[in-house]
Amino acid sequence: MNKAFFLDRDGVVNVEVDYLSDPGQVVIIPGVPEALKLLKQHGFKTIVVTNQSGVARGMYSEADVLAVHRRIRELLAGDGAEIDDFFYCLHHEKYSGPCNCRKPAPGMLLEAAKKYEIDCPHSVMVGDRLSDIAAGRAAGCGKVYLVKTGYGCEVIRNSDVSGIPVAEDLLDAVRQYLGSPEP
Ligand SMILES: [Mg+2]
Ligand SMILES: [Zn+2]
Repeated sequence: MNKAFFLDRDGVVNVEVDYLSDPGQVVIIPGVPEALKLLKQHGFKTIVVTNQSGVARGMYSEADVLAVHRRIRELLAGDGAEIDDFFYCLHHEKYSGPCNCRKPAPGMLLEAAKKYEIDCPHSVMVGDRLSDIAAGRAAGCGKVYLVKTGYGCEVIRNSDVSGIPVAEDLLDAVRQYLGSPEP
């Protein structure tokens, strides 16, 4: 079995831009390439799981989502880093009906776990919203981190985050976890 870090995309890997669809607007958050390299060295798969309801809302297309993912890969490759796979949900209950993949549902994590034989109890979810944390927990991840990048600070200010481990950013989450892995 493999172990993985499941990563929310916007606000964790790249700088949060509402309904990001233009590859030209992709900016990688500092420390992310180093975090991905550390994870690879330690044998973790790195899997992005991202809600992209902008497609259901008719704001942009699946091709735009894929173009953003190509740009993320390209920028990371420039720093010698990579993400193993991207899973995305294009749905929104109001526009396209219910689905099992839109976080806080765990569908994308479970699909990735099946594809890559990932052992969720030895895997980690990192996100900047409570829906990311809920998805990680619902998938049975052994650890979750709420990062302060993206919407993280706003979430911490406005919600009850007791019981949720907090990290400054992805690199901090990775360092914390590698320093004291659980379980
Ligand atoms: Mg996010
Ligand atoms: Zn979905």
